[in-house]
Amino acid sequence: VKGEGRGTVRFFEPAMEAQLQARRQLESELALAVARGEFRLHYQPIVNGRTGEIETFEALIRWQHPVRGLIGPAEFIPLAEQSDLIVGLGQWVIETACADAARWPRPWRVSINVSPSQLRLSDVPAAVAAALERHELDPARMVVEITESVFIQDADAAVVVLNRLRAMGLRLALDDFGTGYSSLSYLQLFKFDKLKIDRTFVRRLGENSDTLTIVRAIVNLAHNLGMHVTAEGVETAGQLAILRALECDQMQGYLFGRPAPEVRIAETDAALMRG
Ligand code: C2E
Ligand code: CA
Ligand code: CA
Ligand code: CA
Repeated sequence: VKGEGRGTVRFFEPAMEAQLQARRQLESELALAVARGEFRLHYQPIVNGRTGEIETFEALIRWQHPVRGLIGPAEFIPLAEQSDLIVGLGQWVIETACADAARWPRPWRVSINVSPSQLRLSDVPAAVAAALERHELDPARMVVEITESVFIQDADAAVVVLNRLRAMGLRLALDDFGTGYSSLSYLQLFKFDKLKIDRTFVRRLGENSDTLTIVRAIVNLAHNLGMHVTAEGVETAGQLAILRALECDQMQGYLFGRPAPEVRIAETDAALMRG
């Protein structure tokens, strides 16, 4: 048994070593990627639940890696969050989203994702204010999406920052609602403008009657607290029909459009004009 144990350790060591090294490699490349201009923002439409009109575009970051190609945020955002790399990266997102939105042919809102660690480590309201002014973008056109984990470390400090953003005229959205440990209790700390229902709920709509009950309860709760509701990950006409019946305010998902480079926005507008 003892021998086996040692053998197992020896067997896994090289794989773990390689994994660790790949991670370190990615981390050091991540540190240079902003300066090298390797990040891209893709935008996904968020539409009005009743009219289907586009109201907002959510900015979703991608890394155009010179060797590995397009890398999704799930692979590098957690890595960036473990160091202060998230600050520079987050600043780049704020700056680029403002610059892009200021050029759009219509006054759609732009929604950005802000990491809790970014909020803690840097002055996000100051960075946003500077970018809005530089690009002459109306603060009312910007939405900040944040997950409830922002409240875990220092809830009071988080509330102060969120209030500063609110005072500047931005909207605040609670992202991935319903997936955390205490989503409900956090609703008492800060009044968000909207809740985004996580797509794990939307996916099961129509398959599971309990899910329908839960989503209906979330929509009613949000409305009673004066918040709007966005459903994430809407992929089918069936899901859309249910969400519309529940009076969900906004929809987002592949059914309406996948995240795409900014140039698509001009094409979207041209298509709208053609009717
Ligand atoms: P999120 O904020 O919940 O973003 C929604 C994710 O769902 C995006 O994945 C989007 O591409 C995906 N999605 C949208 N509609 C559908 C659908 O109909 N079906 C399915 N299966 N997926 C859909 P993405 O772009 O890979 O982003 C993953 C996460 O990375 C985001 O989740 C967000 O937490 C984070 N992230 C993205 N961009 C940024 C950023 O600029 N800053 C920070 N801090 N985090 C970001
Ligand atoms: Ca989001
Ligand atoms: Ca989300
Ligand atoms: Ca998510």
